[in-house]
Amino acid sequence: MKKISISKALADDIVAASRILAQQGVLDAYGHVSARSDREPGRFVMSRSLAPALVTGKDLMELDADSEPLPGDKRKGFLERYIHGEIYRARPEVMAVVHSHSPSSIPFGATRAKLRPIYHMGAFLWSGTPVFDIRKVKAENDLLVRDRPLGAALAKSLGGCTCVLMRGHGMTVVGDGVPEAVYRAIYTEMNARLQIQATQLEGPIEFLSDEEGRRSTAANRGTLERPWELWKKQALGRR
Ligand SMILES: [Zn+2]
Repeated sequence: MKKISISKALADDIVAASRILAQQGVLDAYGHVSARSDREPGRFVMSRSLAPALVTGKDLMELDADSEPLPGDKRKGFLERYIHGEIYRARPEVMAVVHSHSPSSIPFGATRAKLRPIYHMGAFLWSGTPVFDIRKVKAENDLLVRDRPLGAALAKSLGGCTCVLMRGHGMTVVGDGVPEAVYRAIYTEMNARLQIQATQLEGPIEFLSDEEGRRSTAANRGTLERPWELWKKQALGRR
């Protein structure tokens, strides 16, 4: 089998991200994380079809721009790898993607309630959380983004945002690196949970303004190393 082209550091980050997201309850047996190749920008890397908590470096597969494995790699990839490939195609600056079925995000994909930043950790949601409704693209569907046209439609729904909700399914977030995508997956879940709690109290809810969201997103980028180091240690032990 062909060796994957990415750096060892990036491969380690994808493995760590898979373990972290499982440990944090964002991914269970389902969901996945990927990174754009740091050596072949038209390609990306993610695990073969496997529960994220079990991912090791040996499970990583390199996929081409059409989300297909490189010649010679006969392993089974994730059905929904097109989510990743089509976002990388549409958003050249995106370096990592997480797709999850994160429970607290589900109500926001199924109702009229808009997921909005309720605190600074969810600030990246300021740019909007569009809802992808697969029915509008394909009436007869099983909710899964199982081909390129569905992936392209999802990427179109995401537009320039950081998070897209998927009706009856889950959500997908992007980042400028693996730690940022992981951070956003974790804090989308937390923000959604807090927003649901806030609706039970006397409203209206005071969300972050767009300007606060923009500034806070930039500030959080500067401290990303701190939670990343902590989460890695919790998920992988001493390294
Ligand atoms: Zn899914």
